[in-house]
Amino acid sequence: MESGLLNVQMVRLSILILSIICLFLIGLVFVLANALWNLRNKFAELAHKNIEHPSSKHYLTSLENRTSLINRVENLIANSKDGDIRTALLFIDIDDFNSINGSLGVRLGDLLLQSIASRIVAEASGYTKLIYQVGSDEFGVVVYDCGQDSVMLNELASNIIAAVGQPISLQGYDLQISCCVGVCTYPDCAADAETLLKNSGSARDNAKKIGYGTCSFYTQEMSRRSVIRTLISADLRHALERNEFYLHYQPKVNLQTEMVQGAEALLRWRHPSLGNITPDIFVPVMEDLGLIHPVGKWLIHAACKDIVKLHSEGYTDLHIAINLSPHQFDKGDIASIIAEVIWDTGIAPHKVEIELTEAVVMNDTEKSSLMLRVLQSMGVKIAVDDFGTGYSSMNQLTRFPINILKVDRSFIHDMHLIPANRTIVSTIIRMAKQLGYEVVAEGVEKEEELDLLRLEGCDIIQGFYYSKPLEFSRFAQYVREKNSVNGTRKQDEENLA
Ligand code: C2E
Ligand code: CA
Ligand code: CA
Repeated sequence: MESGLLNVQMVRLSILILSIICLFLIGLVFVLANALWNLRNKFAELAHKNIEHPSSKHYLTSLENRTSLINRVENLIANSKDGDIRTALLFIDIDDFNSINGSLGVRLGDLLLQSIASRIVAEASGYTKLIYQVGSDEFGVVVYDCGQDSVMLNELASNIIAAVGQPISLQGYDLQISCCVGVCTYPDCAADAETLLKNSGSARDNAKKIGYGTCSFYTQEMSRRSVIRTLISADLRHALERNEFYLHYQPKVNLQTEMVQGAEALLRWRHPSLGNITPDIFVPVMEDLGLIHPVGKWLIHAACKDIVKLHSEGYTDLHIAINLSPHQFDKGDIASIIAEVIWDTGIAPHKVEIELTEAVVMNDTEKSSLMLRVLQSMGVKIAVDDFGTGYSSMNQLTRFPINILKVDRSFIHDMHLIPANRTIVSTIIRMAKQLGYEVVAEGVEKEEELDLLRLEGCDIIQGFYYSKPLEFSRFAQYVREKNSVNGTRKQDEENLA
């Protein structure tokens, strides 16, 4: 009996010991599994890092990526003897690649990229072996010890642009594409690899603004502008409702009558803490933010309303010229906005001029051309601004409904001293006359320029020679003085005759 009890206790004890051992083993397995899981995560992390590691290459072109470029440039900077050997980065971006990819399909797009990459490599390999693919359609070429002047970099950029621009035949398609190049150099325009890449990207953005197939070098001015851009963006959004915009009017004087024929309305922004900011700086930011539409609408209304005030004083001949940005054409409602303002203010449509950049003429979309025809049929006059700077062809001009050409001020500048400027101005005036356009010379500052323009038969003068842009009350005063004085003089002359 006693031995039976002992046996039962032995069995219980064994079960207890076995249970403890099992629990211990389960715990051990759990700890091991946990350790293995952590190990696996560590491996995954390392593997992920490896993807970004300098050795990773683009699957299409086998060119190393952005991270490789950064690492390599950092090493070059760190290992160079005094750390200041001039090193350049050329940022190459294919123009409009997304829409090419979209229309051709991804397969052909891939082949195209491979072909472009090999052209870039062929062009750049005479200068460097450091060629990278920094984005899907973006490439980077690093030139170590590129010398102090930028002649060689310019040459390399031009060669790359020319090589990419050569026609390509792919699967029965004949394609012609282009690229823009932005250039930045260490240490003069960037202190480290990341900044070098960022600034060459800004130079690329600038090249895109100039046009497809162009190159731009990074300048301190771009950096200043990008800082200002960041600074002003938030405030610009509230500027209209806070009444911070106002207009200046620059007189346009008729050379024959010496009377003010009208004015160009120029937008001004009084920033609450930074003071007056020029439109060259804030208009592009407004375009990026889409603010050009509400501000543009306000401006057209305000300018027409002001001029109508002078019409009601008897100066009924005065015209008002308004600058329109290409973005205002993209939206498609500019003709109806102007029609609405004409209706609201009661201004005669033929007293309204709109100034377009050559970019609108060059892009020549059905939409913009139709809108201009609608405006012209209402009586509104169409002027091409800064003429001569945008490479629009005569052929493109004659297809557009144009009334006025404004010769860019860079050609007017010292035209009595620079024979090329005089030749260009004289040619533009002759051609414009033959096509029946009125010619405005802008940026006239000196009497010598004015005398030559008179000889060449220019119609209208705008520039500091007569007057800087003025706020409305001063412009009104200018009109009263100039038009009545000359008007009286003219009347006297007629009476004498
Ligand atoms: P823009 O349309 O070519 O305007 C003429 C610019 O030349 C004005 O500069 C004017 O002050 C300046 N200017 C006039 N006469 C002379 C001169 O004799 N010598 C010199 N050196 N400059 C002269 P502003 O007002 O700074 O405008 C610069 C640009 O900003 C304008 O060039 C135009 O592209 C843009 N902008 C100005 N207002 C507007 C606007 O309301 N809408 C749009 N979209 N752009 C505007
Ligand atoms: Ca203008
Ligand atoms: Ca102009």
